[in-house]
Amino acid sequence: MSTFTTTHLPHTNPLPVLFIGHGSPMHAIEESGFSRAWGAMGESLPTPSAILVVSAHWMTRGTTLVHVGGRPRTIHDFGNFPRALHEIEYPAPGAPEAAAITLDLLKNHHAEADIEWGLDHGAWCVLLRMFPKADVPVYQLSLDLSKPLPDHLKLAQELRALRRRGVLIVGSGNIVHNLGAMRHGAPAFDWAEAFDADIARLIENGDYEGAASLDPASPLMRMAHPSFEHFLPLLYTLGAAEARDVPRFFAEGFDLGSISMRSVVLGA
Ligand code: ZN
Repeated sequence: MSTFTTTHLPHTNPLPVLFIGHGSPMHAIEESGFSRAWGAMGESLPTPSAILVVSAHWMTRGTTLVHVGGRPRTIHDFGNFPRALHEIEYPAPGAPEAAAITLDLLKNHHAEADIEWGLDHGAWCVLLRMFPKADVPVYQLSLDLSKPLPDHLKLAQELRALRRRGVLIVGSGNIVHNLGAMRHGAPAFDWAEAFDADIARLIENGDYEGAASLDPASPLMRMAHPSFEHFLPLLYTLGAAEARDVPRFFAEGFDLGSISMRSVVLGA
C-alpha cells in the first residue's frame, strides 16, 4: 500500500521553496543582516506541516538517504567555534510521515531510509532563526556526491509534490563557497561576484537547467566551488520550483570575500 494512503499530512496550496546561503555557523547566535533576513522570512511564511532541509553538510556516495527518525539529534559538525555554539540544541521533532512520502516519491532514485543522522549545522543554524520555537517537524535528505549535477535537479523535481502536502523545502548551502580564499575584512573577490551574478541571472530567467548544466571543470566554477557540496542544495531548491514560481532574493552579499550569502524564495 502506498504511504500516501496512510499519512496525515494535509493537502495544501503549494508552499514556496527556499535556498538559504548559510555561511558561518556564527549566524545562528550573532545578529547580522543575514540572520535577520532569515528570521523575517520565517515569520512571513505560513506554518508548514514539516520542513525538509537539503544541507551541504550531509554528504553520501552512491545513495540518497532520507532521515526518518522521530527525534533528530542536533549535530555540532564544526570545530573551533565558541562553546555557546556547541551547546545549542534545536529540539524540533522529526517528520517520519513526510519522510515516508519522500521515500515513496524517490523510489526510482533508490533513496533509502536513515535513522543515524539528525540535524547538521546547515539545517539548525538556519532553522534556529527561521523557526526559533523548534515546533515544526524537520527532516533531512542527503546529497549523493557520486551523481552528476543534472541528476540532482532531476531528483529534486520529484519533490515538488511535497509542496502540496504542507512541506517547506529548504536548500541550505552557498552560491559561492571557497573557504581557502576567505579573507577577513575583504570585499568580495571579482570572480566571486561574477559567479554569484551568473547564478542570480539564471534563477531570474527560470533557467534551472542552465544552473545544473554548468561545466564543473570551468575555471570560474572551480574558484567558486573547489568542492560542490555547498552548490548542490541550490539544485534541490530549483528542482522543486516550477517555471511559474517567481524568485525573490531576500538576502544578498558576501562573507569573508568568498562566501555568497544570497538567499532566494520561489513561489511566495
Ligand atoms: Zn556550510
